[in-house]
Amino acid sequence: MQTHTDVLTLPAPRPAADLAWREDALCAQAGPEFFFPAPGSSTREAKQLCGACEGRVACLEYALAHDERFGVWGGLSEKERLRIRRLRGGE
Ligand code: SF4
Repeated sequence: MQTHTDVLTLPAPRPAADLAWREDALCAQAGPEFFFPAPGSSTREAKQLCGACEGRVACLEYALAHDERFGVWGGLSEKERLRIRRLRGGE
């Protein structure tokens, strides 16, 4: 049973606006293999598309906040996102 104190310590629900960047996502026009390449494949083209995407920053922050481990998000690869999480003290 939850008490008042338990509820106060729960994380705040994420606002719906968090996902607004998806509406203009350029990757929606590309196939998933484009953003989730096989290991060892190039991520260059996906990163180029991300560079032209207006939702890039929000997309990257979403991936960092949700610990997305695979694929290109916000123009960064898994390894690049892991580096940022470590710099921020997340891992
Ligand atoms: S930044 Fe890249 S992965 Fe994120 S929504 Fe835009 S195109 Fe897709």
